[in-house]
Amino acid sequence: MPMQIDVLIFGGGGAGLWLLDELHRQGYSTCLLESHALGTGQTIASQGIIHGGLKYTLSNLIDPGAKAIANMPLLWRECLAGKSQPNLSQTQLRTESCHLWRTGSAKSRFGMTGARMVLRVKPQDIALAQWPSVLQGLDGSVYRLDEQVIQTDSFLQALADAHQDRLLKINPKEGLAFQTSKLGHVEQVTLAHEDQTLTLRPRKIVFAAGQGNAALRQSVGLDPALMQTRPLHMVMVRGLPKEAILNGHCTDFSQTRVTITTDHDSQGRVVWQVGGQISEDGINMEPTELIHHAKAEIQAVIPNVDLSDTQWATFRVNRAEAHTRAGRRPEGVTLFEDGNVITAWPTKLALVPQLAADLLHRLDIEPAEGGGDGMGTIARNWPRPQVALPPWETATSWITVP
Ligand SMILES: Cc1cc2nc3c(=O)[nH]c(=O)nc-3n(C[C@H](O)[C@H](O)[C@H](O)COP(=O)(O)OP(=O)(O)OC[C@H]3O[C@@H](n4cnc5c(N)ncnc54)[C@H](O)[C@@H]3O)c2cc1C
Repeated sequence: MPMQIDVLIFGGGGAGLWLLDELHRQGYSTCLLESHALGTGQTIASQGIIHGGLKYTLSNLIDPGAKAIANMPLLWRECLAGKSQPNLSQTQLRTESCHLWRTGSAKSRFGMTGARMVLRVKPQDIALAQWPSVLQGLDGSVYRLDEQVIQTDSFLQALADAHQDRLLKINPKEGLAFQTSKLGHVEQVTLAHEDQTLTLRPRKIVFAAGQGNAALRQSVGLDPALMQTRPLHMVMVRGLPKEAILNGHCTDFSQTRVTITTDHDSQGRVVWQVGGQISEDGINMEPTELIHHAKAEIQAVIPNVDLSDTQWATFRVNRAEAHTRAGRRPEGVTLFEDGNVITAWPTKLALVPQLAADLLHRLDIEPAEGGGDGMGTIARNWPRPQVALPPWETATSWITVP
């Protein structure tokens, strides 16, 4: 028997999971289909900074993106404290606040004055004694920015734990078929796993599958070229001294020259994930070349850090978002509606609550009478997706750099 469902979501990264939670709380019958591990692609690779837009103002120009994201840190803070829904109190924080520091050039001093009018979270000048220990001795200034940084795996796990019955693992190549009646209108979705099949008749479908959205759109006859990808080549350093806990950005004029977030790997080693301009510079570099470049940059912007016992690795990842004419970052969340299919990209992890709110606002259906969600009983034996492992747990080519 086909199962009627209000909203069927594809993709269990930050966007899909937050949306699932929101729809469920509003009384919609909903479930989420995931092809790999939850968060594979961007969310697990993300640095987890709940941005409030400061970095978009560094050029001193008003960037609409800064306005779109300005409220997000306050909204997340409530959820992370368990005072608002979704309750994310089980999410581990890497830090309560980021730090900003700048190199000594006149250019970078100018950069810190930025167009900050729209910001809700602004940088605070802090006394030397409050500087992170790894920045002590730096010739420059350090600011505190009250943007939290989350451990993205525990964020994904918190939402997954709340919705186990509504998460299904699928195999899009062999176990997924769409039945469409006209362009962009999906009547039925059939899932197959070993000898089981499950037929769903969704009133609405949401593609929230990050880079996977292009192929999903193509499968239902929609234009995949509405998506763009912007590559990054990220650097990881492990084995830093125990006190090298640092989360934030070194700014240089309009750029975030280096963005560093800190975590611990499964063996308790301190791991830095290094992005910012380095990860853009690295797009056309081989891993070893990028690692040497990153080490030189880190030594230039954090001269006192001890890198002697460290190991280094890199990984490549694409940001997937709505296509823009100049290939630039979209200003905020993007939703496209075709028939009963909505394609969604949050653009930033910090914006996933906005994506859920915009989508709910756009949804022109009420929860079906007595819809509930019987997924738990109907698909009890169906495989469930796990949460993806952080990139430093899956990287295999670590090198030491003299
Ligand atoms: C290196 C890096 C660092 C970043 N740092 C930050 C940051 O610090 N702060 C910030 O706000 N933003 C950051 N971002 C951006 C942020 O990570 C993304 O905007 C956000 O995570 C996108 O979430 P998503 O759920 O749309 O996509 P994803 O996280 O990519 O999730 C897509 C999900 O869909 C699944 N999927 C794919 N195809 C299918 C299919 N056919 N069927 C079903 N499921 C499918 C995938 O397996 C995955 O689980 C960063 C991005 C990168 C790449």
